[in-house]
Order: sequence, then C-alpha cells, then structure tokens
Amino acid sequence: MSEEKSLNFLEEIIEKDIAAGLHGGRVHTRFPPEPNGYLHIGHASSICLNFGLAKKYGGKTNLRFDDTNPTTEETEYVESIKKDIAWLGFQWDNEFFASDYFEQLYGFAVQLISKGLAYVDDSTAEEIAATKGNTQEPGKDSPYRTRSIEENLQLFADMRAGKYADGEKVLRAKRDMAHPNLLLRDPLMYRIKHAHHHRTGNQWCIYPMYDFAHGQCDSIEEITHSICTLEFIHHRPLYNWFIAQLGIFPSHQYEFARRNLTYTVMSKRKLLQLVNEGHVSGWDDPRMPTISGMRRRGYPPAALRQFSDTIGIAKRENITDLSLLEFCVRDCLNKTANRVMAVLDPLKLVITNYPEGKEEMMTCENNPETDAGTRELPFSRELWIERDDFLEVPSKKFFRLSPGNMVRLKSAFIVKCEGFTADAEGRVTEIQCSYLPESRSGADTSGISVKGTIHWVSVPHAKTADVRLYDRLFRVEDPSNEAGNFKDYINPESMVEVKNIYIEPSIADAPEGSSFQFIRKGYFCTDRDSTPGHAVFNRTVTLKDAWAKEQKRTT
Ligand code: ATP
Ligand code: MG
Repeated sequence: MSEEKSLNFLEEIIEKDIAAGLHGGRVHTRFPPEPNGYLHIGHASSICLNFGLAKKYGGKTNLRFDDTNPTTEETEYVESIKKDIAWLGFQWDNEFFASDYFEQLYGFAVQLISKGLAYVDDSTAEEIAATKGNTQEPGKDSPYRTRSIEENLQLFADMRAGKYADGEKVLRAKRDMAHPNLLLRDPLMYRIKHAHHHRTGNQWCIYPMYDFAHGQCDSIEEITHSICTLEFIHHRPLYNWFIAQLGIFPSHQYEFARRNLTYTVMSKRKLLQLVNEGHVSGWDDPRMPTISGMRRRGYPPAALRQFSDTIGIAKRENITDLSLLEFCVRDCLNKTANRVMAVLDPLKLVITNYPEGKEEMMTCENNPETDAGTRELPFSRELWIERDDFLEVPSKKFFRLSPGNMVRLKSAFIVKCEGFTADAEGRVTEIQCSYLPESRSGADTSGISVKGTIHWVSVPHAKTADVRLYDRLFRVEDPSNEAGNFKDYINPESMVEVKNIYIEPSIADAPEGSSFQFIRKGYFCTDRDSTPGHAVFNRTVTLKDAWAKEQKRTT
C-alpha cells in the first residue's frame, strides 16, 4: 500500500505550521474525553491520532477530562479512561480537568460581560428555543439583551452565588440573532445547575457550556492542534471568536471524521443502555466495542494501534468493516500467541497397541512463527480428540479419521483407525486406533506420509475448562441505521458457552489475559472468571474470517 507513505491531511497541516515556525514549531495535542462512560474503539483511534502526531513531531499530549457536566460524570470513568489509555501504550505529558479551570473560565466570562459581549438572560429554555429562528428565518433578540454591563455583572455574580434556581437564568454571548450559523445566535455560555460535581463538590452551581469551555481550556494549556470530530466543524467560528475576544493563546481546531465499525454501536448513550438493561454483562463484556471489552476479549493493544493506522483519517464519515479489526488481531496474535491443544467437543480415542499405563512426553513447538521455544506434552494410550475429526463414512475430501484411514496426531505419532464403538442411538462413543511407534514427530522413520493432522489431549492428563465463543453483537452491519430500535438487532448467539472442554495441562493455570492459539480452533484468552484448577477462556477471534466466506456464499 503506497498511500501509507503519504501524509494525511493533519500531518500536512502540522508540517506546514512547523515550516512556518508557528508557535516556535511546537506541536501540542490533547485527548479530551468526557468522563461519562468507558472508552470505545472510536476513542482508541482518536487517542492513537493525538498521541501519534505528537510523537511523530516531537511534541506533547495532554489528557484533559472534559468534566463540565456534573450530572453524568463519575470518578469510576476517570480511572477506567486512564487505565485504557495506558494499556493502549500511551503516556500523557500532563493530566488536567476542565474543572481545574472553573475559576479562570468564570473570569473570562466576566471579561466578556465587561466588554458588552455577554448578557444574562432570564428567558426560559423554551423561550430561547422559540426565538432561535431556523435556517430560513432569523431569530429574535431576547428582551434581556440590552441590559447594562453593570447589571449583567451583578446578575452573573448572583448566579454564581446561588441566588437562582436551575434554569432561571443563563449567560449568553452577544453575537448576532440573524447569523446564518445558528450556533452563533447568542449561544449559551453558562447555565445554573445545583448539582454535586465529582471534583469540585458543591463549590459551583453554574457550569460552562462545552463551547465556552473547550477552546479556552485548549488555550490555557497552549494546545497547538486541537483535533476533534466533524460534528464540531460549525462550532469552530465560536471557538475562534471567544479566543480572539479574550486575546488568549490562539489554539486552533481541526476536524476529522468519526470512526465507526460494523456490527456494533458506538455512542456512549447506547452502550450504557446495553449495560444497564443487561444485554451484556458490563462495560467490559468481551462483545462490547469498548477498549476494556476488547482487552478482556484478548485483543492485543498493538492490534488496536495497527487498526487505527490502517484506517487512517478521513474528512467524511464512513464505517469500517469489523473484519479489518479482526485481521489486525489475528496478525498480532499470530506472532505472539503460543500454539496449544484444546478439545472442545471430545471423543475418546484409544490406541490399542500402546502399552497400558505408559506415558511419555512429546515435544511441541510453541510458535513456529517465532523463536518461542518448545514445551513437553504428556501422551498416553487414551486421548481426547474432536468429535468432528472422525467420520464413520468419510466424504471425498475428508482426510481425518475414518475406519481404515491414517492421520498424524500433532507433534506425536501416526495412528490408523481400526474400529469404533457406538451407543444404542448410533452415537459414536469411542474409536480404536493402532499407532506406528517409528512415526514419532521429529524422528519419523516410517516413510509414511498422511494427509491429515489432528490435535489431541491425553485423557489422564487433561484439565477441564470452559470456553465462551463470541460472535458479533449485532446481526446487521449498522444497527443504528435500521428501522426501529437498535436493540432489536442484537445477535442472540453472540455468546455461546461450552462447559468442560479438555485442555492440555500446561495452560490450566495461565494468568488472566494470557493469549493462546488453540490449534485449529482459534485464538483464546484466559478470563478473570477463571478459578484455580478451572480456567475460563474467551474466544478472541476465529482463525479464519467465517463471515467473509458466508457473504461470498450468499452473493
Ligand atoms: P460518544 O458520542 O461516542 O459518546 P463523545 O464524542 O461524546 O463520544 P468524548 O468523551 O467527548 O466522547 O470524546 C473524546 C474524544 O474522542 C473527542 O475528541 C471525540 O471527538 C473523540 N471521539 C469520540 N468518538 C469518536 C469516534 N467514533 N471516532 C473518532 N473519535 C472519536
Ligand atoms: Mg463529547
């Protein structure tokens, strides 16, 4: 892909700014989450972008919590956000809160009032909405717009002092009620909210609006490139106007398109519904598009970074296929996850010519892609294999076990199926094989080559575990864009739990978050629900993209 080398539009802007010596060639970005939910994969892209640009140009990145709305914000979210950013592999240079600047922001508002650029309005929210006008019609001036500067200063001080109830008064910027950009028709700067704030407690009962806070916070921190998503493009004139009127550091806002992903929803409001209504087990349910959900599912942070780099940035909203993210996950895990054996749907195989009571160790390669070394795996007369690796009557291209047929047991011997036992309903309960002692992997002198290799676990040595097989959380690509409620499209089979599978003993006590490739079955990761002696694994991703195949079949 040659476009990987070309600069994205933000890099072009930054390189031009550096060349022009703007702000002494300094690059300072920020990531400004509102602590009202857990971060999702869209935020991960924004994090990679902001930290990535600063890193590339020798700059800095601040983490700033945009905590101007006391009623939805919580300390729990602040902690989760920090954990997620660190896990993604980024370290912020400074940690700030918009609430750190409440006093300064108040001072800025007083300055604008003193310049005759802001006024206290007693209109109700309904009256303000009704006089806003629309794209065809201008708005109407509020009857309170002509208050004197002295009166406004007094009223604003009284607002702060708690003299008024919620909604009784607001502070508005005096702009132009006929402006074609509706956001510039006397936008709100402050509202009254008698609410407890997670950091400032009950110190304040007035809170700045996003538009009056964000640009000034950027400016206070001398952010050079303030990157946000496209829906803020119409806010930019206001961002610039406040900064210009206050004569403070000229931060500049740039917009890029929000990242979306198929088969999921991304808005925090919708994710909160999934959590609160019990459709998922929590914010970190492995089916959630949250960073914490992906971590628990076993997605490596490098895969999220690779995904973000691959999709790049766009100026127009688009939706990225989940299979691209899964491709990145496989690509990373392929290099890092050890290959191990686990049997999900067991059938017993007995090697009739292998001495009873004998056991020996087989040497298995941990990861043929890397130098991950080897491990020893116990082998014995009775093994568990996958039920679907045996067919009584094989189809044409079936190269696994069937009466008279030979396969290799991975990292062990070649066996030949000599017969099988079935119960009264005809369900196969056991298969009997003979083995070739001279066919041992790595020392094979049998001269026989077989077409199939299957995995196995020794019966007396096997440990049990549970696996949770995850699939897409929604049945449709873009649930938010379908008729009715997005929750109508939840995939009822997004998690299937399989209890008491058999795993090789080496992974029985792997610590939480360990990733493995279960040979032929997919990538799995130990979940925190594991207990000593009984592991629980999340399927991170299948080995192949089953959905891509399905789509091809149906088209
Ligand atoms: P949501 O609408 O999903 O709740 P938000 O925009 O309200 O998200 P914030 O906490 O305000 O969430 O976002 C912090 C930063 O992350 C902002 O700069 C925002 O633009 C960016 N961001 C949020 N969602 C996405 C996304 N889907 N793609 C890219 N960047 C995003
Ligand atoms: Mg937001």
